[in-house]
Amino acid sequence: MNEQQRKEQAQIKQGLSVDKKSSQDIPLSEKTTEDFAHYFQTTYEPPDIKKARKRGRDKVEVHYDFEVSDKMQQIGKGKKFLIRTYGCQMNEHDTEVMAGILTEMGYEATLEAQDADIILLNTCAIRENAENKVFGEIGHLKPLKLEKPDLIIGVCGCMSQQESVVNKILQKHQQVDLIFGTHNIHRLPNLIEEAMFSKAQVVEVWSKEGDIIENLPKVRHGKIKAWVNIMYGCDKFCTYCIVPMTRGKERSRRPEDIVQEVRHLAAQGYQEVTLLGQNVNAYGKDFDDLDYQFGDLLEDVSKIDIPRVRFTTSHPRDFDDKLIEILAKGGNLLDHIHLPVQSGSSHILRKMNRKYTREDYLELVRKIKNAIPNVTLTTDIIVGFPNETEEQFEETMTLMEEVGFESAYTFIYSPRDGTPAAAQQDDIPDDVKKERLHRLNALVNQQSAESMKYYEGKVVKVLVEGESKKDDTVLAGYTEKNKVVNFKGPRSIIGSIVDVKVTDAKTWSLNGELVKKTVGVNG
Ligand code: SAM
Ligand code: SF4
Repeated sequence: MNEQQRKEQAQIKQGLSVDKKSSQDIPLSEKTTEDFAHYFQTTYEPPDIKKARKRGRDKVEVHYDFEVSDKMQQIGKGKKFLIRTYGCQMNEHDTEVMAGILTEMGYEATLEAQDADIILLNTCAIRENAENKVFGEIGHLKPLKLEKPDLIIGVCGCMSQQESVVNKILQKHQQVDLIFGTHNIHRLPNLIEEAMFSKAQVVEVWSKEGDIIENLPKVRHGKIKAWVNIMYGCDKFCTYCIVPMTRGKERSRRPEDIVQEVRHLAAQGYQEVTLLGQNVNAYGKDFDDLDYQFGDLLEDVSKIDIPRVRFTTSHPRDFDDKLIEILAKGGNLLDHIHLPVQSGSSHILRKMNRKYTREDYLELVRKIKNAIPNVTLTTDIIVGFPNETEEQFEETMTLMEEVGFESAYTFIYSPRDGTPAAAQQDDIPDDVKKERLHRLNALVNQQSAESMKYYEGKVVKVLVEGESKKDDTVLAGYTEKNKVVNFKGPRSIIGSIVDVKVTDAKTWSLNGELVKKTVGVNG
């Protein structure tokens, strides 16, 4: 079959499947949201903040019996998969789970779209530009789908949890075969089977969060550092944020399952774990049979023989004294805390529903610094929340200095459908927001550079992760405070923690020399 024939056949197949998708004779591109409503009746409801806020305390079941059946293990034999991941660590970790499931189904990983039999886009909905990137990628994949009609293209992750996105894909992006959400990843084998044999686009998005499935397989990215999910969802409802709608209500994994996973990683030689959740310090608040919270979990994890334990992200509101006390004990609990503040203005914080004021945040920082004098604090900041005044923005700038954040992720506010802030009228022009972001970033860079300068001449402990991306004769790793260090050394030390003397500091990284350990005469 030549190229032209393949393309024509693909178009014919597409045409046929389009016809069968619809029981009526309206062309798909002319259909409205109502025409697709049947997809959502059983599995999907659009994001509804009022409903979401009334989250019940339905019991979350924990399942330990996930398996890929013998039949499903044959489906991917001789085939390849590619997963493109957008967004946060949670998505990266979900990708590791999907890679694990696909591997059990017999698929092999590839980095080349051209070689793949299934391509999954694991998407992020947090800001509009993240969504635009995904739609761009869906468009780029169209010629490949025409060329390889049996290729399965799937869209999953947070974007799939939004009705507007699902409708847009169904109406405009026929090359997508499969859409599923964040709550039914464990259904991947069945969904792929359906997508293979169905003439229609397969859509399965659960509006209600599912149970916790414990024994999902994972193919982890690397053997040095690992993500460990400790909870799912978020109940905070910050007014700008889509996450409580895309990730559902807070559900904590049982402590014994988390501790066992970290022990297992330690036994496999992993050097670092990051405990993951949208709001890790709300951990345990949903248990009705256990009085066990994030501080307790950290205490238990700190006893495991693994050199480094991090966590992300914590919410200032839930950062209690017990947690500070446990962190102050140090050991494998690192003294770097990422503590998103979002704004330095109490007025804006109230409108964001963050449930703390500027003064509360500063008081928390004071307590943390008292207990952990050497602590490194980093943060997230949103610029240009609706109607943010110049004075309110200036309060963010002064807070940035007052706390002495060593780094910050900074974002221009992006309205998200279904969130309360998106319904507000906003009088601040885009160029004013961009100019503020620019000023804030200049301050962030300055504070980062100053914090780096401190390390010149000092010896730091570096977990060596591999060769530097820019130069393969140079190794790169991270300090306990998460600073990148580049230095020359033998490849044999990749995966271990070594001493490096910092020779010079840049804005975002350090250069150094490996400190050779002197072996004592007496051994
Ligand atoms: N749960 C974490 C917290 O509360 O800090 C962070 C979750 S969110 C994935 C990461 C960051 O994205 C937030 O801290 C916030 O700064 C930013 N973000 C969330 N929604 C946003 C929006 N609509 N526009 C701009 N930035 C947003
Ligand atoms: Fe979003 Fe984080 Fe607020 Fe939850 S706590 S709503 S994830 S910003």
